[in-house]
Order: sequence, then structure tokens, then C-alpha cells
Amino acid sequence: MERFYKMVEASNKRFPRGVEPFQMVTRLMEECGEVAAEVNLWEDSGIKRQKRGEPKKEDIANELRQAIVELFKIAEYYHVEKELEESIEASLSRSRAEGLID
Ligand SMILES: [Mg+2]
Repeated sequence: MERFYKMVEASNKRFPRGVEPFQMVTRLMEECGEVAAEVNLWEDSGIKRQKRGEPKKEDIANELRQAIVELFKIAEYYHVEKELEESIEASLSRSRAEGLID
């Protein structure tokens, strides 16, 4: 989590004009679209592979990271870092209690 917030800090400094909620949500949607394009490439649907060649793990990983960072920006903007952490812990606890994970 810490590293994601560090990436948020860096991104906010690099792009200081893009830190308003609607801009963050718009970028999140843009990054989700780029994740979808990667999935499209990986699943070989449409003509993506003809245009871009074989999918690369690094490319889909980069798009996933960019989308995740946008989510963390929203968490930071609304100061819900602690609540996000608690939500994740609660979810993991429930899954452990249900025997879904160790
Ligand atoms: Mg991207």
C-alpha cells in the first residue's frame, strides 16, 4: 500500500493540475479502458494482435498499475486510506473465516 501512495505522491507532483475528483475518475476510466485493450490483445479478439503483435506481460502489468494508482489517488483525495486498509482487512478476515484462504 505504501508504495502505491508513493506513486500517487509522485504523480500528483508530476501532474499538479490533474488532482480534482472528476479528473481522477476520468483518468481511472481511461486506464481501465487501456486494461481492457490489453485484455483484448491477450484474448486475441478483434485485430489487436495483427496491429500490435504478441501481448507482453509488462504491458498489461503497467496498465493494471496505472489503474490501481488512480484508485489510490481517489482514496487519498478523500482521506480514506485507513478505511481502505480496514476494508481490505475485513474482507480478508471474512474470506479466512469462510475457509476460502489461509
Ligand atoms: Mg495507461
